[in-house]
Amino acid sequence: MPSPASRIVILGTGGTIAGQAARADDAVGYTAGALGVQVLIDAVPPLQAVDLEAEQVAQLDSKDMDAATWQRLAQRAAHHLARPEVQGVVVTHGTDTLEETAWFLHRVLAPAKPLVLTAAMRPASALSADGPLNLLDAVTVARHPGAAGVLAVLAGRVQAAADLRKRHATRLDAFAGGDVGPVALVEDGRLRVLRAWPRGEPAGLQAIARDPAAWPWVAVLANHAGADGREVRALLNAGVRGLVVAGTGNGSLSAPLEAALVEAVSDAGVPVVRCSRCADGAVIDPPGAALPSAGERSPWQARVDLLLDLLVQP
Ligand code: ASP
Repeated sequence: MPSPASRIVILGTGGTIAGQAARADDAVGYTAGALGVQVLIDAVPPLQAVDLEAEQVAQLDSKDMDAATWQRLAQRAAHHLARPEVQGVVVTHGTDTLEETAWFLHRVLAPAKPLVLTAAMRPASALSADGPLNLLDAVTVARHPGAAGVLAVLAGRVQAAADLRKRHATRLDAFAGGDVGPVALVEDGRLRVLRAWPRGEPAGLQAIARDPAAWPWVAVLANHAGADGREVRALLNAGVRGLVVAGTGNGSLSAPLEAALVEAVSDAGVPVVRCSRCADGAVIDPPGAALPSAGERSPWQARVDLLLDLLVQP
C-alpha cells in the first residue's frame, strides 16, 4: 500500500507537449494535443517509480481553450485534490493560454495542495523535446513536501500563477515571472525554494457552476496610436458584458477611447477595468482616475477576475 497522500494525478488537456509532427525537425508544423496523457507519461522512464494516475480532461491546442474546458478542468482538479491519498495534481497544457488557465484555477481553487501546470515549446516528436523533462519537474514539484497553490513549471522555473507571463513566441525558456521571479527552481531534479508558496481566497466551484455557454462575455481591447471609441461601441452593440482595456504605459488611454469607455460604464452599465499593455509593472492609479485599474494584474488575468465577478452577480 502506498503511504497516505503519495499519489500524483496527471490531467491531460493537450498542447504542444502532446504535439506530433510528421518530421522530428519540424518544430512549428505540428498538431498540438495529438497524443494522450498516458503516452506523455510513458516517455518519462523515472515516472514509472512514482505512484501515478492519469486522466484525459481535454485534448486541444490551448489557443482554443474555452469556458467549458476550464469548468471541467477545475472540477476534476478539485475532485482529485480532495482525495486524501492524492499529494498533488499536475496538468499538461499548451503554453499559449497557460497563464490564463493558471490564474483561473488559482482564483477558483487556490488549493492548499500543489496544482502544477506544465507545457512545452517543442512537440513531443521533436528532436530535444522539452516536454518530458518539464513533466518530470512538474511531478517533482507536486511531490515536494509543503508545496502548495497553483504553479507552472517550465525550463526549470516554478512560477506562481499570479506572476506567470509567456514572453517569447518560440524560445524554450518562454516564460517569465513578472516583477518578482520564480517561487522555486528545479535543478537536476532537486527543488530550491526561493519564496513562499502562493496562497489565496478561492472563489470556489460554485462560482463557475453556471452553464459555460451562458458565461458573460468579457472582451480585451487595447489603446494604440489612433485608438478611438468605435471598437467600444461595436462591442456594446454586440452584447459585451465586461471590458478590459490594455492601456499604454501606466494604463493610459487616448481621450476618445477613455470617453467611450466611461460612457460604457455610465450609460450601458458595463464594467471596465484598466491594465497596461506593457509586459511588466503594475498600473498605479493617479488621483481621480476615470476608470479603475487592475493594479498588477495582466489584461488576461483581469479578464478572468472580471468574468468571475460577473458570474457571481445575481
Ligand atoms: N499552440 C500550442 C498550445 O498552446 C502552443 C504550445 O503549447 O506551446 O497548445
